[in-house]
Amino acid sequence: MIMTERRPEAGGNSDPWHHLSPDEVERRLESGEDGLDEGEVKRRRERYGQNKLPPPQVRGPLRRFLAQFNNLLIYVLLGAAFVTAMMQHWVDTGVILAVVLVNSIIGFIQEGKAEKALEAIREMLSPQASVIRGGHRITIPAEDLVPGDRVLLEAGDKVPADVRLLRVKGLQVQEAALTGESVPVEKRVDPVDEDTALGDRFSMAYSSTLVTSGRGTGLVVATGVETEIGRISTMLAEVEPLTTPLLRAMNVFARWLTVAIIGFAALVFFFAFVLRDFGAVDSFMASVALAVAAIPEGLPAILTVTLAIGVQRMASRNAIIRRLPAVETLGSVSIICSDKTGTLTRNEMTVRSVAVGERTYEVTGVGYAPRGGFEHEGRELEPDSDPALEFALRAMILCNDATLRENGGEWTVDGDPMEGALLTVGYKAALDAEFEHKAWPRIDVIPFESEHQFMATLNHDHEGHAHVYVKGAPEKVLEMCASVHAADECTTLDRDAWMRRVDELAAKGERVLAVAYRPADEGQRELRFDGIGEDFRLLGLFGLIDPPRDEAISAVAECQSAGINVKMITGDHAGTAQAIGRQLGLARPDKVLTGRELDTLSDEALRKTVPEVDVFARTTPEHKLRLVRALQSHGLVVAMTGDGVNDAPALKQADVGVAMGNNGTETAKEAAEMVLADDNFASIANAVREGRTVYDNLKKAITFLLPINGGESGSIIAAIMLGLALPITPLQVLWVNMVSSVGLAMALAFEPAEKDIMQRPPRPPGEPILSAFVVWRIVFVSLLFLVGIFGMYTWSIGQGFSVEMARTHAVNTLVVMEVFYLFSVRSLRTRTLTVTGIIGTKAVLIAVVVVSTLQLIFTYAPFMQFFFDSRPMALREGLIILGVGVLVFAVLELEKSVRNRLTAHRARARGLSDTP
Ligand code: ADP
Ligand code: MG
Repeated sequence: MIMTERRPEAGGNSDPWHHLSPDEVERRLESGEDGLDEGEVKRRRERYGQNKLPPPQVRGPLRRFLAQFNNLLIYVLLGAAFVTAMMQHWVDTGVILAVVLVNSIIGFIQEGKAEKALEAIREMLSPQASVIRGGHRITIPAEDLVPGDRVLLEAGDKVPADVRLLRVKGLQVQEAALTGESVPVEKRVDPVDEDTALGDRFSMAYSSTLVTSGRGTGLVVATGVETEIGRISTMLAEVEPLTTPLLRAMNVFARWLTVAIIGFAALVFFFAFVLRDFGAVDSFMASVALAVAAIPEGLPAILTVTLAIGVQRMASRNAIIRRLPAVETLGSVSIICSDKTGTLTRNEMTVRSVAVGERTYEVTGVGYAPRGGFEHEGRELEPDSDPALEFALRAMILCNDATLRENGGEWTVDGDPMEGALLTVGYKAALDAEFEHKAWPRIDVIPFESEHQFMATLNHDHEGHAHVYVKGAPEKVLEMCASVHAADECTTLDRDAWMRRVDELAAKGERVLAVAYRPADEGQRELRFDGIGEDFRLLGLFGLIDPPRDEAISAVAECQSAGINVKMITGDHAGTAQAIGRQLGLARPDKVLTGRELDTLSDEALRKTVPEVDVFARTTPEHKLRLVRALQSHGLVVAMTGDGVNDAPALKQADVGVAMGNNGTETAKEAAEMVLADDNFASIANAVREGRTVYDNLKKAITFLLPINGGESGSIIAAIMLGLALPITPLQVLWVNMVSSVGLAMALAFEPAEKDIMQRPPRPPGEPILSAFVVWRIVFVSLLFLVGIFGMYTWSIGQGFSVEMARTHAVNTLVVMEVFYLFSVRSLRTRTLTVTGIIGTKAVLIAVVVVSTLQLIFTYAPFMQFFFDSRPMALREGLIILGVGVLVFAVLELEKSVRNRLTAHRARARGLSDTP
């Protein structure tokens, strides 16, 4: 009964958990060594809810809708509506208000879609937690944790809830998220005073802080909003704005343009009213028409949607963007530095060779299934005929954290695939991992870390023997050894001879591991990193193959054709790295720089060497940071992969930090701009392709919209200057800009990559989007549109049509030209007159059908005729208008091919002058 009275306090911070003894904590939370069972978890989940914080405060729908009106052009339009109402031009007022409303609704829906897309992506990144439930260690989504759960913490983890620690080993936690203090804090298990400040509660690990080293076990005491971070989460609840540097620049540009245009429109009013004797109303409407025509109203919204669609498309190809500016940066990446194991290779390891004593055995069979055996010089042989071999195999089984699982004949590994392969080779010699672990229980461990390149365990048997086992990189392990184990007596170690055997295996592309042991005192219960010792006895070498991924080979080739240099950075042996580098088709696999050589180079020397080397071996995470800096000093845009805790600084420094989604630590993910859901190098190449596509599509949207504004405003200015009636009325301009143009431009967000996208060199990082080419395009097409609109209007008038009819012709010409221009803009440089070019994408076709239908309604529906003063046109004029569209298209294609020929010619001329 007492229990149930206290229980409600669990999951809250009312209990001074940090002040209670571990036993008391376990008692109060009713949780022991085996953790909670499923039923209890369910009960507690019902009681305490999920372990997650409410999503960041997003704007409510109403505020989001109202925000659509917060725009200079909308103010102008509302002003115009007011003026027209004062003059009792009710139709105009109504149309203006209706268009403003429709446009805001479109903006509202688009923005909602974009935000949803990002939210879905954020959810893909939810962290995991390691818990013991019902006696088994399992990995679950962190949000499924309940108070009382027994969680395991390891270097690189993000603490998933507030945890009272029960056991720690060198556990250090960085609590900046909570306390602002970035120096890691060493944790202990003893209770601290009840009134200790948060930062000094050494017996607790708090949600959202990061484990920097060591490991620990503890009980969850608070979840979700009840955690310390949950209490201050209102402060953290910010939504990342949907923007990138380019978008921001374009928004600034659009804003200045708007201000300039409004100023210009005022001048036009003055000009029309004073110098051209237009009436006040007509002058006013003319200047409003100009403002509406010239301001690229839809542009910011379309750019945002394009960005969101790009991010969504990347996510569907396993590249999850954490920071939006990375989308843009990806498009200009010129170097990709990638891990080897698991990213470029399959991480499906198989032990191929085992060297013990004088012999090197070959192991047959592939995969994790324990089928296969041992051969020596081509002859099959029983493994128990060589006790040294058995001993080495057993050591590899004991110094191992993986488990193998069979499921309907399929063998899979839980844990490190390489360690799984070591278990498999044990089974091939009839050594059962479970049995060995029972016979030699583990007392302590030094876990594997990339910096140290080895792992050690202390095991005792039940007859009073104790062994320390180490396995790891041969250089490291050989350093710790003084002798070689043999059945009767140990022989002294010939280090050079063994290193030669290592090199032989490595040259075949095998990853080599050495294993050794040392007897220990019965009383030794603890392993310490600095006291590990040097008198180990070498047991043998293991060679594992880990073939390159097929997709990685083609992705490397694709990157190379895209002007991107791929570099491999690995902790593995130089020989192995070189062999894999060759198989991958890296540009310069022969020159290898090792971590040790790297250490001897000054920053300046490294800067000079780095462009010539593609393979870096035996590196530690610290080297990555130096490499990124050296590459960046050449002005290169660097993408760098990483998975460990210590990779975080390099990931932050890189222009695009890429973390592994499966095998990466939470620390690496937090530091990265992008996370690979499948840890696959090919996904980076895909992301680059998508990054380039997004940038292209942004460029296309800009190149599409600006000339339309240019053409429209040009024809209005021309009319005013010449003292003619406007070829398009302000309301008609409003219709075209806010409905037709936006509808068509939206389709560009869905454009797939152009065929040659991965054959172009990377975009120079500082390149302005309004490049000379884009500016020329805008001017040229503006003129085309001006001629089209104005020409059609004057022609119509000349044919004796009424002004209203002529305007209807002009508006329809404008929209038809837009449609044809849309097809042309879909590929900026190459010809569009290909089958795919003409058929277009689904999005383009939908946009064209919708806009055409609306245009028919505009022309023929009586109510639209009432609102917009349009007139039903005859078929003949309709066909002529289509003809104008085709003509515009032909001119655009001609311009493309002339310009292409010019650039080719210039490139050739330059090429000739370059060669002496
Ligand atoms: P990689 O870049 O290939 O992933 P790592 O930094 O993971 O390299 O590993 C570096 C070296 O450390 C490996 O070549 C191997 O010799 C050793 N090593 C890797 N994993 C383990 C492990 N679990 N136990 C012992 N040694 C390991
Ligand atoms: Mg690794």
